[in-house]
Amino acid sequence: MAVVREVAQALEDAVGSAGRDLNFMHICGTHEAAIARHGLRSVLPKGLRIVMGPGCPVCITPQGEIDAAIALAERGRIVATYGDLLRVPGTNGSLESCGGDVRVVQGVHKAVEIAEKTDREVVFISVGFETTAPTVAAALATRPPKNFSVLSCHRLVPPAMEWLLDQGEAALDGFLLPGHVCVVTGYREYERFPVPQVVAGFEADEVLLGLLMLTRQVVEGRHVVENAYPRAVSCDGNPKALALMREVFEPADVEWRGFPVIPASGLRLRPAYREYDAQERFGIRIAPTPKTTACICDRVLRGVAEPTDCRLFSRACTPRTPVGPCMVSHEGACRIWHQYQVTTS
Ligand code: SF4
Repeated sequence: MAVVREVAQALEDAVGSAGRDLNFMHICGTHEAAIARHGLRSVLPKGLRIVMGPGCPVCITPQGEIDAAIALAERGRIVATYGDLLRVPGTNGSLESCGGDVRVVQGVHKAVEIAEKTDREVVFISVGFETTAPTVAAALATRPPKNFSVLSCHRLVPPAMEWLLDQGEAALDGFLLPGHVCVVTGYREYERFPVPQVVAGFEADEVLLGLLMLTRQVVEGRHVVENAYPRAVSCDGNPKALALMREVFEPADVEWRGFPVIPASGLRLRPAYREYDAQERFGIRIAPTPKTTACICDRVLRGVAEPTDCRLFSRACTPRTPVGPCMVSHEGACRIWHQYQVTTS
């Protein structure tokens, strides 16, 4: 606790030196959970705000992809996916309520095991950032059974950051970079962004240290990528995992929930692995789907609204009665704020 108090005091001094309000974004559900669990917003100096961006992979999966997954289950395929995806509302119901054969798995290898024991088609709904894509790539590189396929809903973090900076909607002064993603990717790719960025860990003192380093960059007029999580992250990341991901996947232009189509921000299977592409195999077209509820997940994911700005938050929308994905996923801002009773940043 002494370290936390010390860093918090240094942060207060640094924010005072900035002479203006500061607005930082993190892009990681685990960061949001750490901030909420430790009550860090209550120790942040006045004038410093940290918002969550599109850092929950389930939340940023657009409704069109959820609808496609539901359609696969309704048409008799075995759909295997992570538990967090089950209750995400689609246009009509969810994977949990659709009545199809939907199985929760801990990872792609379990979905492959299901395919090995049946003649039926098994589709793995594969969501996640650069953290999970290499694992899926590794499974496909082993050439699993022919009745196995993947609906790739993967997203890449840097193109979304670029979009956020280009739009300027959230008026960001810097990014706390996602530690888990950077374990795989390293942080060289982030050096092209002209704002302060710090790779941060997930303990209370590590998050505060990341915010302190960001603030000092602002005060000193610098914008570089600094690493406050060196015990896990290196500049070049995990080259083997990256090579595997690039062997199996190629970038694709995809929509994110709350965002338009962002160039090269998703991953689709390369031609050599197309036989495992569920979209190709089953002729799936993923179309943009209009929002029909008062859910403001789209604005929460862009960092321009907080969960408590939503009139449904903790009323009509709770973890038991989720209206939007941010209340379903354990990495979703609304679910985290509901769980830890966060009131405002
Ligand atoms: S509280 Fe529910 S309805 Fe509101 S933004 Fe969050 S997930 Fe959407």
